[in-house]
Amino acid sequence: MTAAEALTRALLKLADQDHATPCQSRRRDRWTSDDAEEREWAAAVCVGLSCPVLVQCGDAGAEFKAAHHVWGGVDRTPPPARPKPAKRTARPNCGAVA
Ligand code: SF4
Repeated sequence: MTAAEALTRALLKLADQDHATPCQSRRRDRWTSDDAEEREWAAAVCVGLSCPVLVQCGDAGAEFKAAHHVWGGVDRTPPPARPKPAKRTARPNCGAVA
């Protein structure tokens, strides 16, 4: 069974028991937010509220090689790229003595 299948099974079992995961709350947009602080909050909630499918979710995120959003209490979104430093150009006559 793949990690994705294990997660699906766990979620279906949870739904059968009339339970939901924290990321199904009314603040669910935070798990996929463009704001890193909101995703950090969401990741902390996964762990802090002991999501019942935390392990399966993390395994599925790893299996998918997810490169965005929060999976299993981990923000898998890469940090924004730093701007490249400006190229230096040679200045003619720099330091020349007249
Ligand atoms: S561990 Fe996964 S399923 Fe559970 S709240 Fe976090 S993102 Fe949602």
